[in-house]
Amino acid sequence: MKCRVCQHEISPFMTFGRMPIANGFLTADKFDGEYFFELKPAFCDRCFTFQIEDQPEPELMFHDQYAFFSRTSAFMQRHFQAYGNWVRETFLDDSESFVVELGSNDGIMLEHFAGHGISHLGVEPSANVAEEARRHGVNTMVEFFGPQIAQHIVAEYGQADALMAANVMCHIPDINGIAQGASTLLKPRGVFIFEDPYLGAMIDKTTYDQIYDEHVFIFSALSVSNIFAPHGFELIDLLPQETHGGSMRYVLARTGQRQVSANVARIIAEEKSAGLDQSGTYDRFRADCEASKTRLVNLLRAEKEAHRRVVGYGATSKSTTILNYCQIGPDLIEFISDTTPIKQGKYSPGMHIPVKPYEAFTENYPDTALLFAWNHKTEIMEKESRFASSGGKWITHIGTE
Ligand SMILES: [Zn+2]
Repeated sequence: MKCRVCQHEISPFMTFGRMPIANGFLTADKFDGEYFFELKPAFCDRCFTFQIEDQPEPELMFHDQYAFFSRTSAFMQRHFQAYGNWVRETFLDDSESFVVELGSNDGIMLEHFAGHGISHLGVEPSANVAEEARRHGVNTMVEFFGPQIAQHIVAEYGQADALMAANVMCHIPDINGIAQGASTLLKPRGVFIFEDPYLGAMIDKTTYDQIYDEHVFIFSALSVSNIFAPHGFELIDLLPQETHGGSMRYVLARTGQRQVSANVARIIAEEKSAGLDQSGTYDRFRADCEASKTRLVNLLRAEKEAHRRVVGYGATSKSTTILNYCQIGPDLIEFISDTTPIKQGKYSPGMHIPVKPYEAFTENYPDTALLFAWNHKTEIMEKESRFASSGGKWITHIGTE
């Protein structure tokens, strides 16, 4: 395969095997026609970009039935308010400012600009979440961002002071098209700010469940720097985030236009010492994934032999990679509980574990709960303190021994 960024010839360093659509929760009558692809990550030793080789057609992954509304999580509401305020206070210096967000979802971040009377535009491909954003007073166009859309936006609104994204860039295979669009869209001192799950955190903790169909890239500062340099941008700041089990906020500006924070050199040095630019690191990651799989399967088998009931907590997209890679089915996990009505009564993709309402967990506690939404561990431990105090045990897939 060719690297999606620099066209260098690369090959996958491992396979997670046959994988269904991560968010493809399904009814029993759909088992026969279920779609599978092979999930194979690759690392480019020229531009240092971590990517997956095959990605299913976008229509299979993103459709309105499973639309994700950011607004439903109080934690994410707070995060986006802080993100929006930080951008406004750090980079916008007058009331004439214009900001654009890619994949603006239900307007959860842009409403904090709209509320201050700042000219803004959301570019959101999914029509029903865009509609929700408009209901919140957020100006939104239903489009995929790229060089042409950037030209249209400039013609209608002028150039932008800030272009923002959150958990969007890692979904877009044509990353060079985005960079080109950013170059067209931004003013000379404009900034491009985005955050996504961070490769450094994933390698460090062996949280391989970050790798699934929608995440075509897992970025590092090294790769982001290399992706944007040919388009005339440099990193001017890096801010690690707690979200999604470890994310990074990247801040880019046109080369030489803005002061570069000391964070940039420091984090790049940390990435080099962690070997994020070395192929050998990814061979070790493969071995760590295998060890993590063995550990989890042994743990679940021991529970079963001890006649202890195990259920899954949170039918997340991430859980699909874990369950299918480890081949964990209903023989080891009785069901997965989830608060999302559309998933309830369905089965998990590939391994077909039943998904039941949240009450199925609380009304008849299992002995052990496998926490798939491990990135919300703190909130969940607080919410479910009664489970632990009544003797329930939490486990996660994280850990290699
Ligand atoms: Zn490359």
